[in-house]
Amino acid sequence: MYKQVLHDHLDGGLRPSTARDLAKQIDYKPIVEIDNVADFFDRSSSTSLENYLEAFTHSIALMQTFSNLEQIAYEAALDMHQNNINFYESRYAPFYSVNDTLSPKDVINAINSGFKQAENECGIVSGLILCGMRHDPDNVKAVAELAIDYKKLIIGFDIAGPELNYLPSMYKDSFLKVKNEGINITIHAGEGDGVNSIQEALDNGAKRIGHGVRIIEDINEDNELGNTADYVLQNNIPLEICITSNLHTNMYKSPQDHPISRLHNLGFNISLNTDNRLMSNTSIDNELKIAKIAGIEDPASLLKYSASDSFLN
Ligand SMILES: [Zn+2]
Repeated sequence: MYKQVLHDHLDGGLRPSTARDLAKQIDYKPIVEIDNVADFFDRSSSTSLENYLEAFTHSIALMQTFSNLEQIAYEAALDMHQNNINFYESRYAPFYSVNDTLSPKDVINAINSGFKQAENECGIVSGLILCGMRHDPDNVKAVAELAIDYKKLIIGFDIAGPELNYLPSMYKDSFLKVKNEGINITIHAGEGDGVNSIQEALDNGAKRIGHGVRIIEDINEDNELGNTADYVLQNNIPLEICITSNLHTNMYKSPQDHPISRLHNLGFNISLNTDNRLMSNTSIDNELKIAKIAGIEDPASLLKYSASDSFLN
């Protein structure tokens, strides 16, 4: 059985050892001076979103050269291969790495080069989804243009960042342009905001929903579905579920409280994903264990490659 991962952030998945090595090369003080790099990045007991997001400023600081991006992408794909993944969809907000010596195209090329090395070595097929940062309208517009300019080099378009107060409809023109170019769209929705955000993601061309877990709020105790939940179920819209990430942002207290098992039993199209391996100290192997605790009998079946769900083809 081929296995896929649909939702994993490149800047949230550096190896701790690599973070240390790259920090040493540029004498990056916040990391060079600490003993345990894994602990430094681990935000599993994070009390605020600010504290969680602060960790990304440090990983991004190490993603400012072609060779660093290449190495980080290569290792991400290799680490997924170690967890028996065959198709890896990675995502990144490209302008975080654009600087005087690195153009947006260089950023994309560096990441793809790392993915290609991993593919040549162990066969894992990887692709890049470009993320616009939804709290920054200029950024979203620029990333949408970038996606169109380099559509042959990428596999999809997404918006990430704080969901509340930044609904997909803010960017309906960008989504329409991207969609008209035949580029696949997934949108983070139903994590920091509720059902309305998921509905808006669907209205703006999302073929998949990043997280989407709060679709459960459109289903009552008698398992009667509201319009959005009914649409998602009937159209087999993939929900990119990230259990550990949801626990760490305090959406649910324990795996048993997470709605994955209920959604699965109702027949929703569910996949298992890592979101941010470094900050959440997780891996696909770990998510398989957590999903079991959450009540999924055969978690590995949720990784099964599906040509209709994948943006890689
Ligand atoms: Zn995410």
